[in-house]
Amino acid sequence: MGKKEFADYGIGEDVLKALNGLGYFQPTKVQEEVIPVALADMDVIVTSQTGSGKTASFGIPLCEKILWEENRPQALVLVPTRELALQVNEDIANIGRFRRIKATSVFGKASFERQKSELKQKSHIVVGTPGRVLDHLKKGTFPVDKLEYLILDEADEMLNMGFIDQVEEIIGFLPKERQTLLFSATMPVLSLIHI
Ligand code: AMP
Repeated sequence: MGKKEFADYGIGEDVLKALNGLGYFQPTKVQEEVIPVALADMDVIVTSQTGSGKTASFGIPLCEKILWEENRPQALVLVPTRELALQVNEDIANIGRFRRIKATSVFGKASFERQKSELKQKSHIVVGTPGRVLDHLKKGTFPVDKLEYLILDEADEMLNMGFIDQVEEIIGFLPKERQTLLFSATMPVLSLIHI
């Protein structure tokens, strides 16, 4: 019995060290549920609120599974707002620090050219808002041939903000063979994604 530890999931030393440095000593409830499923490459739909530790529940498995040697993006995290993109990007960078995981954020009202050149360099994980992600996909500045993981964060917010068509169009660009994790505070979103 007893409380679960991050080490129980078979997470490597580098990520464990980062979690320790962040003061994440024990998994939260959503992390307990999601981490093993995500590490096992299964698709999952999660209802959880902000503040539950949901970012790390996908950030930890992503940072663990990313192949450092591969320069092209392996994961896409779609979020509804710029603020959330920056925050998720920072959380992932912190968790992946000792594995030298490179996260790139892309969102509107920021330089397209700069994002384009960042996407050309090593970018393991792309965190972005739907409009700008779609722009990069259409212009061919976001290569997706190595993409294996899609995370839809705050999917209900993306639906409320009218991003459904853009999200569907984005999914149309992605490899069919991939893992998809969908997070939402509420669950009126089942029609959003055709997995
Ligand atoms: P989130 O729900 O992802 O916005 O996370 C809420 C807050 O909890 C953030 O400030 C995280 O840094 C923090 N947090 C996430 N996981 C843990 C954990 N296992 N232990 C302590 N704090 C955590």
